[in-house]
Amino acid sequence: MKLRVAHLYPDYLNIYADRGNIAVLTQRAELRGHSLEIESVGLSGEIRSSAHDLYYVGGGQDREQALIAPDLAAKGSALIEAVLGGAALLAVCGGYQLLGRGYRGRDGSTMPGVGLFPHETVAGSTRMIGDVLLECEPVPGERRTVAGFENHAGRTLLDGGAVPLGRVIHGHGNDGESGFEGCRVQRAIGTYLHGPLLPRNPWLADWLLAQAIAHATGEDPPVFVEVPDELAEEAHRVAAARAKSRGGRRR
Ligand code: GLN
Repeated sequence: MKLRVAHLYPDYLNIYADRGNIAVLTQRAELRGHSLEIESVGLSGEIRSSAHDLYYVGGGQDREQALIAPDLAAKGSALIEAVLGGAALLAVCGGYQLLGRGYRGRDGSTMPGVGLFPHETVAGSTRMIGDVLLECEPVPGERRTVAGFENHAGRTLLDGGAVPLGRVIHGHGNDGESGFEGCRVQRAIGTYLHGPLLPRNPWLADWLLAQAIAHATGEDPPVFVEVPDELAEEAHRVAAARAKSRGGRRR
């Protein structure tokens, strides 16, 4: 089937080649006989809450975030409606921060957020940089690891009861202290991890695709046959080993 994907602000939020995540989604959809129809939604674009099965927002530095934050906040209610209606979403770093209630940057200026994720972000005086390894449970009882790379000044504090993407095994995560990384709301995932994220963690790409298919069909997410990908496994192994040797937080 054809899955409809909205890529928000690709010209502004695309550091560390976050666009590569879209390439992985496209390839893994094709492996299962599906295709993606990707629409870029920029400053003049519109979000129509039932028009897409999957939304993607990449990362960006404070300057780029400030340029799009008011526009994204104005699109916020349509985006929330889409996610509450069952659409899948992946937001990385700067995009993740702006999908919370707001972000106070290094210069003290406040950027409005969408209010999809139950969190707030405030920039600290140091940056949290390096490889990260997480442990998460996308489906109850199914343990997975996520390897990626973080580089952020923002400290994201989840509200009590909010569901993180995972627990930090190595690295800083949301705030360097809580041991949480990322956030989940229904089929939406926010995370600090670049890498880009999906080339190193193809199971997460599959999870997102399955959720997008569920949105499109109105049925349960399909269970895909695993497709071995040695390069992706190697990329995961290397990033996980680097995260381990980095030190930082350990369980
Ligand atoms: N500007 C944000 C921060 O430094 C996000 C950076 C990013 O997307 N890598 O916290």
